[in-house]
Amino acid sequence: MSSKTFRGGVHPKKYKELAEHIAFEYFPAPDEIILPLSQHLGKEAKPLIKKGDEVILGQLVAQADGFISAPIHSSVNGKVLSIGKEVTPLGFPKDSIVIKASENSVDKRFTFPPLDPETITPDEIRQRVAEAGIVGQGGAAFPTYVKLSPPEDKVIDVVIINGCECEPYLTRDYRLMIERPDDLISGLKLIMKTLGVKRGVIGIEDNKPEAIKILSHKVEYEEGIEVVSLKTKYPQGAEKMLIKAVTGKEVPPGKLPMDVGAVIQNIGTAIAIHDAVVKGEPLTRAALTVSGLGIRQPKNLYVPVGTPIQNIIEFCGGVTEDAVKIIVGGPMMGIAQYNLQAPVMKATSGILVLTKKEVTESEETPCLRCGQCVDACPLNLMPTKLARYTQLKRYEDAEGIGITVCMECGTCAFTCPANIPLVQWIRLGKQKVLQMQKERAEK
Ligand code: SF4
Ligand code: SF4
Repeated sequence: MSSKTFRGGVHPKKYKELAEHIAFEYFPAPDEIILPLSQHLGKEAKPLIKKGDEVILGQLVAQADGFISAPIHSSVNGKVLSIGKEVTPLGFPKDSIVIKASENSVDKRFTFPPLDPETITPDEIRQRVAEAGIVGQGGAAFPTYVKLSPPEDKVIDVVIINGCECEPYLTRDYRLMIERPDDLISGLKLIMKTLGVKRGVIGIEDNKPEAIKILSHKVEYEEGIEVVSLKTKYPQGAEKMLIKAVTGKEVPPGKLPMDVGAVIQNIGTAIAIHDAVVKGEPLTRAALTVSGLGIRQPKNLYVPVGTPIQNIIEFCGGVTEDAVKIIVGGPMMGIAQYNLQAPVMKATSGILVLTKKEVTESEETPCLRCGQCVDACPLNLMPTKLARYTQLKRYEDAEGIGITVCMECGTCAFTCPANIPLVQWIRLGKQKVLQMQKERAEK
């Protein structure tokens, strides 16, 4: 099978061997969970409980508030301790529900009535996905039912399952593909049914031959579903790169995948859809990888949403003496943590503990004008100019050369020999430009 790909990108060291052979394990219920009301893109959910209330696993504790929002369910049995600002892995506090877990956490639980995937209608799937609180597991945490409800004038002809997992260290998608291939295919078929699409593609990077083999075998007799092998290159899993590699189509700047007829879903999202429809389970668990040379026992875990990072690190044997940095997410796009009480959220893909060896501290020097960042940018942007305009507060100029198009993948910063923190500058400039655009629209 020949592998497809896109222009640009980089090849960071993978470190996948640390956790790729380790089967998923269930993390036991923690003593306390912290559930941020905003674990998704869009408006935060509205609490339905108050301090002192008893709740059970799977119970709806906060309802979606608006079209782009998602409900939140308790991931333990217990008692509500408080509702207020709590630390999050995003680096700033958010309104959250804190629940003290009771000891018999697995005895009682709420589930929806299971539905038959053969006879279920597209609207019933959408409704179940919405009420189960499913959000994209690939990072941005966009409410999934919104993605499954494209405007009528958009014709969708392909559903692509993102099996690239191109960030170093992370192995949860790989493990899910080889441990739960049938559930993944069931989820994909439900997505295809919802959108009325006849073609489904599972795109997998070619450094995961076992996943390609298992899934290719499983889809042999599935009509309209194929497995496509993609070149191992970061950021192959970015939506626009994936569409380009699989269909050859380019998503124009400012447009969405659905504008070129594609809907992308992550591996974990497809499995969550299967679990919600077929088993009636609301989304209360995050599947994640704990890895890095700084963690004593790397693992792939199903963790109750809301579990503090500290508990997970202890469950994995603690950190080594030379551990220097903890990141939530992958090393390219993840966020460094300063408070280990921050909880796992619905879309948390990994917790990495890195040692000095993996984190090269290097001093920033002036730009060499070498153009390496421009060559590497998969979106043909000029990272060096975007960063410079931000530094000079020339936000309109930054807007003019497409700062809002940047997907913050970190490829440019990875290549920069001058160690300029390009993504941080671009992220800052992008926020300013988006604010400017919002103010313009309100005038
Ligand atoms: S972070 Fe933005 S500018 Fe840098 S390579 Fe990625 S898309 Fe291009
Ligand atoms: S890679 Fe770094 S040094 Fe080279 S042009 Fe881009 S910002 Fe400047």
